[in-house]
Amino acid sequence: MPAAVFHGRGDVRVEEVAVPRPGPNEVLLSVAAAGICGTDAAEYAHGPSMFPVERRHPATGHLGPMVMGHEFAGTVVAVGDELDPGLVGRLVASAGSLCCGACWQCARGRGNMCESYAAVGLHRDGALARYVTTPLANCVFADEHGLTGDAAALVQPMSIAVHAARRSRITPEERAVLVGAGGIGAFLVYVLGRWGVGVAVRELVDERLELARRLGAAPLEEEGGPPAVVFEVSGTVAGYESALATLPRGGRLVLVGIQKRPHPVDLGRLTVSELEFVGTNAMVYQDDLPEAVRLVAARREGWADVAPTALTLDELVPHGLEPLTQGRAPAVKMLVDPWANASRPTAFARRKESHGT
Ligand SMILES: [Zn+2]
Ligand SMILES: [Zn+2]
Repeated sequence: MPAAVFHGRGDVRVEEVAVPRPGPNEVLLSVAAAGICGTDAAEYAHGPSMFPVERRHPATGHLGPMVMGHEFAGTVVAVGDELDPGLVGRLVASAGSLCCGACWQCARGRGNMCESYAAVGLHRDGALARYVTTPLANCVFADEHGLTGDAAALVQPMSIAVHAARRSRITPEERAVLVGAGGIGAFLVYVLGRWGVGVAVRELVDERLELARRLGAAPLEEEGGPPAVVFEVSGTVAGYESALATLPRGGRLVLVGIQKRPHPVDLGRLTVSELEFVGTNAMVYQDDLPEAVRLVAARREGWADVAPTALTLDELVPHGLEPLTQGRAPAVKMLVDPWANASRPTAFARRKESHGT
């Protein structure tokens, strides 16, 4: 099958690889669509830092060129030995993440902090290919919600936003400010809006600000009252400083964007003003994935404004990774359809048939 294989920095090739076989508790998916994000762009431009191309991954054992793609949905076409063959035909969205279920972090419900954490498409072969394997445990059934394959591919990035919102412990009685509404920030605006939280957005790009308003953000001038929570999603020093300057006494600063280098912190102010700095990373699929699929399905008008196009595998580098790397991505979310021979508009019209209950 054709697959987008990461060989090294700036070196992603579409080449023929073997169709993978599902492990005992895994499903083999025919990939409907797979998203790419800043993590993929960072590996492409500056990596490999996370991809186990030069060093073997301790949990997955992967070493060498790797198929990319960690945000994906697909139809089950085969199941591992332990699973019910009746699952064939189901449309699932995968979290991609893999945790052991046995360490102390997993025991306290922090699977994303698992001592042997890994992810499909980050630490073993992923879904920028026609087929991918993933454990059934990290999947949700997207067909039960009437989702298309394209909509189902948005469940993973939505779950990252759900996790960040959950980490903030925000309530509808509190207000939020969000800095940076490109990428995951746009999904986070939508989650907060659906949870009944008023959120004002700081975003320099006009089209992103307009999209944030359609997704549920209040215009900044309607901010009204200090924010109990400030989400810093840009990952820039300027964004961090803007977020910190906005934070009231007793406020919580949720650092979603990953800062590139260390930055001094006024710990005296943190103590005296009872500030909380909250980190958030990936998601806990048991907790965040069911809410994410519910929220993707809840937007009746679909997601064409967030993810308008599905690229072909051959277009991944020139029309996906390169623009993302250069900060000129044409959409909040870029999808890839590994079966397509030409880029196509995405489809979000709800499916009538639904499986299960
Ligand atoms: Zn991602
Ligand atoms: Zn674990």
